[in-house]
Amino acid sequence: MAKQNSIDFSKFKSEQELAQERIVALKDQINQARTDYYEKDAPTLSDAAYDSLERELRELEEKFPQFKTADSPTQTVGGSATTAFSPATHQVKMYSLDNAMDTAELKAWLTRTHDAIESAFDAKTANATKYCCELKIDGASIALTYEQGILTRAATRGDGQTGEDITQNALQIADIPKKLNLDNPPQIIEVRGEVYMPKQSFEQLNKQIDQQNAEIQEENDRIDAQNLNKRKLAPKKKFANCRNAASGSLRQKEPSITKQRNLATFIYAAAKYTDIPQESNITTQHSFVGWLKDAGFSTNPNIRTLSNANEVIDFCNMALEMRNSLPYDIDGAVIKVDNLEIQNALGFTSKAPRWAIAFKFPPEEKSTILREIALQVGRTGVITPVAVFEPTSIDGSIVSKATLHNFEEIMRKDVRIGDTVIIHKAGDVIPEVVGVIQDLRPADVKEYNAPRNCPCCGSLLHEDGAYLRCDNFDCPDQLQNRLEHFVSRGAMDIDGAGKKIIQKLVEEKLITKLSDFYHLRKEILPDSIGKDKTKENLIASIEGSKSQPFDCVLFALGIRQVGKTTATLIAKHFKNIDALINANFDELCEIEGVGDVGALSIKAFFELPRNLELIESLRQAGLNFEIDESQAKPQTLAGLTFVLTGSLQNFDRNAAQDALKEYGAKCSGSVSKKTSYVIAGENAGSKLTKAQELGVPVLSEEDLERILRTGQI
Ligand code: NAD
Repeated sequence: MAKQNSIDFSKFKSEQELAQERIVALKDQINQARTDYYEKDAPTLSDAAYDSLERELRELEEKFPQFKTADSPTQTVGGSATTAFSPATHQVKMYSLDNAMDTAELKAWLTRTHDAIESAFDAKTANATKYCCELKIDGASIALTYEQGILTRAATRGDGQTGEDITQNALQIADIPKKLNLDNPPQIIEVRGEVYMPKQSFEQLNKQIDQQNAEIQEENDRIDAQNLNKRKLAPKKKFANCRNAASGSLRQKEPSITKQRNLATFIYAAAKYTDIPQESNITTQHSFVGWLKDAGFSTNPNIRTLSNANEVIDFCNMALEMRNSLPYDIDGAVIKVDNLEIQNALGFTSKAPRWAIAFKFPPEEKSTILREIALQVGRTGVITPVAVFEPTSIDGSIVSKATLHNFEEIMRKDVRIGDTVIIHKAGDVIPEVVGVIQDLRPADVKEYNAPRNCPCCGSLLHEDGAYLRCDNFDCPDQLQNRLEHFVSRGAMDIDGAGKKIIQKLVEEKLITKLSDFYHLRKEILPDSIGKDKTKENLIASIEGSKSQPFDCVLFALGIRQVGKTTATLIAKHFKNIDALINANFDELCEIEGVGDVGALSIKAFFELPRNLELIESLRQAGLNFEIDESQAKPQTLAGLTFVLTGSLQNFDRNAAQDALKEYGAKCSGSVSKKTSYVIAGENAGSKLTKAQELGVPVLSEEDLERILRTGQI
């Protein structure tokens, strides 16, 4: 079936427009990753993936400098101070470090630095410059202030300007001196370094959490079995790696918890070198670390002062070799101009010192033995092969499963059970099998044969491109996954229906299809799902789900290729399910994000009588199959683009943006000439300045409140 529309050239975007869109998207994603990483200590991306996003953004900004803004993640120090602690303002900003991802980038930095020193001093000074090489400790930055030799304040980095005051917690860390070991301590000095969690403490901590979770599970099972009127406890989350554990443990509300976590430090810097007593005669980074050690700080012994690129690269390779045998995590090496006067002359960018660079280790790969290829049946019947192997630690977290994507991939990589496979963490947190070490293949290992039958229901599988698919709509695994999708957030949002409850309802044959949720009554629910309250909550949340809007219902149907965003766009376009069912292929293709494949899949879905029956019974149950026009806002802000900046007192920024969009407005993350209005909350920074420079009208939070109430500017 060919698309018959004539080409609409206005749809094609210039390279510049595409770059601008990509920059906005990258900034959003990086900022979200930063929140997850720095504030929640629960990263959703691997460090390698994060670094590659930041790099792409930097390259785009270099190519299109007109889109580079002062608030871009490439220009700012990641992180922020949470409100859980009192703010600690840094008298001297705490910086991040620029990265070199390989030796070529490291050499390029050394050359650039040499040239910068030559122009600031002379060729002789540049040629004689030495580099102080240290390990890059993977923990959390800390700043410690001593007055008359006594520890008076400890702070996290935060956004570099303001951190969190964690003095009470720092007092619990054994190797942080509470009093300096100096006869004549400086009147005031602020030193900086890294707090880390030793690998052993990290393993102990996660074991403890496992134990606690086993106890919680036991107690929850008892509550279930005895139908007790007691609240169940949620299992505790494990930390993904030593860095997150260190950062999370340092930022505990209860200092005694910090104490139990066995944190340790390496200190390596001063906020101002002028704070060091003159008589100490400290002129280099290396000698300063010696001074720190004498003053009683814990300093890292793996420090070398080196003269040329080859020596520096050897140091980085040595660090990489040491990595696994060290009792703490490192994620690279830090190379610093050794001479403090030259450092001072080179200065800083808005984000990092010009006189230092972090050499980052390549993403970690591990070899392990493949024990099994497990098969998972998805809600649309796709069978996904999953590698199950000896547990191994990658990037600081223990993994025992990795995706093999599909069966073509298994054949292409010739992966066999019993093979030694190489695992790495790719673009997200899901590890993947990158290949096989053929030389280590045992003689008796057999070629892997893709399954012919569904591992769950036994139906014959059929090939669908690179995938194998089970066509049995009643396959229990598919049904379970379909039901879980249906109740999920963004779909019908049925809170009380967790995985286990769904399993029980299916076992009891109370549910065989999606619409059966709406026939459940409290009296017919089995006691195995819980006590009366649980049953009542389930029925109430099923009832509540009937008010989910049309786009959520559409998403809940689980049509292949129709994710949440596409469902929203389709709902907006067609307004009701009948128009969608009757839409032809070309009409469907016109909707952003649908495309040929999506259009085919939507058509195929509505051609099946069983799906039409399902829609009919859900409609009868009272679900929304059309956009509620009475609730739709007049599109009075159509054609206007808003940028929200600064902190809003009474609004969540995302919610405010969504509310503006309901009136037809567009919201953007950066200010340009095209911006119609900037809404500036408290402490608005660079975006506000940019708006003023460009003459973009600036509105207040009260204005925003009025606009959202009236739909008028
Ligand atoms: P960074 O960790 O790359 O380097 C700067 C930090 O290194 C300094 O602030 C300091 O605390 C530390 N450091 C350790 N040893 C040091 C030494 N010997 N000398 C000087 N400094 C030393 O930079 P960052 O801004 O803290 O974080 C950016 C990095 O964090 C990214 O490159 C990425 O790896 C990771 N990150 C990951 C995610 C994610 O989603 N996974 C999100 C945000 C950041």
